[in-house]
Amino acid sequence: MEDINVLLKKYYGYDSFRNSQEEIIRNLLSGRDVSVVMPTGAGKSICYQLPALAMDGITLVISPLISLMQDQVRALIGMGVRAAYLNSSLTPHQLSLATENARRGVYKIIYVAPERLETSDFLDFATHAPISMLAVDEAHCISQWGHDFRPSYTGIADFIDQLPHRPVVAAFTATATQRVKKDIAYQLRLNKPFTITTGFDRKNLYFGIYKPTDRYTFLMDYVSRNAEKSGIIYCATRKNVDDLAMALQKNGYSALPYHAGMPDADRTANQEEFIYDRTKIMVATNAFGMGIDKPNVRYVIHYNMPQNLEEYYQQAGRAGRDGEPAECLLLYSARDVKLNEYFINKSAESEHLSPDEAEKFLESEREKLKLMTFYATSQTVCLRKRILSYFGERFLPPCDNCSVCNHDSGDSLITYGRQKTAGVRGIMDEALFDRLKKYRTVEAARAGVPAYSVLGDATLRELSVVKPRNTAQLARISGMGEMKIRRYGDAIVALINRYEEEADF
Ligand code: ADP
Ligand code: ZN
Repeated sequence: MEDINVLLKKYYGYDSFRNSQEEIIRNLLSGRDVSVVMPTGAGKSICYQLPALAMDGITLVISPLISLMQDQVRALIGMGVRAAYLNSSLTPHQLSLATENARRGVYKIIYVAPERLETSDFLDFATHAPISMLAVDEAHCISQWGHDFRPSYTGIADFIDQLPHRPVVAAFTATATQRVKKDIAYQLRLNKPFTITTGFDRKNLYFGIYKPTDRYTFLMDYVSRNAEKSGIIYCATRKNVDDLAMALQKNGYSALPYHAGMPDADRTANQEEFIYDRTKIMVATNAFGMGIDKPNVRYVIHYNMPQNLEEYYQQAGRAGRDGEPAECLLLYSARDVKLNEYFINKSAESEHLSPDEAEKFLESEREKLKLMTFYATSQTVCLRKRILSYFGERFLPPCDNCSVCNHDSGDSLITYGRQKTAGVRGIMDEALFDRLKKYRTVEAARAGVPAYSVLGDATLRELSVVKPRNTAQLARISGMGEMKIRRYGDAIVALINRYEEEADF
């Protein structure tokens, strides 16, 4: 078996494991089931992809989200891993081709939708193939106690039982209460699993709350200072979304709306524009986000306060999945409290609850709204501490990365230098960074993939600090795996050399 640190560098170009990745991987390689709760962006995929590469045989990954499967498989192929997905986005012909390939042992990692497990074609393949590991992504979908129960998940354990050799089983989720965690292990029939819940803190996120006299002006000002960055602006109503998107467009910004009132085709098209970086700003209601895995979102602004902190943290958490600094800003206005009270009352009415149930529902939702409001009006308590304590985690302030700890009132909104810079130290050459970004855009367009799947922001940033002048130096940059070097290495080294020579003039 190849050393896992070697594999990490070879395929992903990374120098070290994050958080508990190594521990999880070692457990899986020793043949022990695992159950992992890790926040979004913490790096769950490596926890099953890397052991899949180290083990003999095939790994199946069960995932409910078609767009995520496509994303991950594209990324794996880009790293030189033989991977495929089997789901309803394929035509019957494509599906049988892929299954045939799988039978012939072409793939190392296969992403599969839970519904597919029960089909005779797939079962026939699986029972005759060397399946060494089965990873369940979004494992909370198996539990009725979770917020996203999917009946098709309940067939996974029976599927495993039908395999001639039981593979090692790994369950992953970003959200799980104690009850859901237990249920995952029970429903999947995990065998004495190594269980781990990592912290929910996302260190690279800056949390800010502002109370501008005029939200609109504040927003325009922010966007004008961050025109090059990709961001999401959440609004409470569809009308707000349409108005704001229109206003941004009129002011020359690249922005598109997204809400449930739009035709499906328009929504999908706008989402694509955003993911492929052809549009910088997505203005959206809470309908936007499920299954969005865009790692380079640099800010999430809440133009209105959401109903509770779960919703807030989930939406804000779509910023900075790549681990680079990102901002989560909430624009508070007392009117939003009233608006949310109205929403709560309305949903209580529409849920056909008994008077007793309705009362309980109202009580609990109002309590959550109260805590959300405490957060939004926090003057002295660290925002990170408030969020984490809501999720039952202790945190000792100051975090030095929120508007309370940093005494940031938003009056002089200086984005640069406000954040703690994560990652590489040293001076970044902005002009070189811009050139590398342009190069990336061209490559992405040529391949018809999103920019981030060519190279991540963190990698471009490190390149603009270190300025490698040859391939050996390039290989030391985080994110430059073997495949990336083979594909882009010469061009990047040439670009940097040319740039440096120009600068010498
Ligand atoms: P999750 O599935 O938990 O939301 P991902 O697996 O998508 O998170 O990882 C989030 C980001 O972090 C990705 O861009 C990934 O490449 C990066 N990442 C993961 N592990 C490492 C690591 N050990 N070193 C550097 N970057 C990492
Ligand atoms: Zn703080």
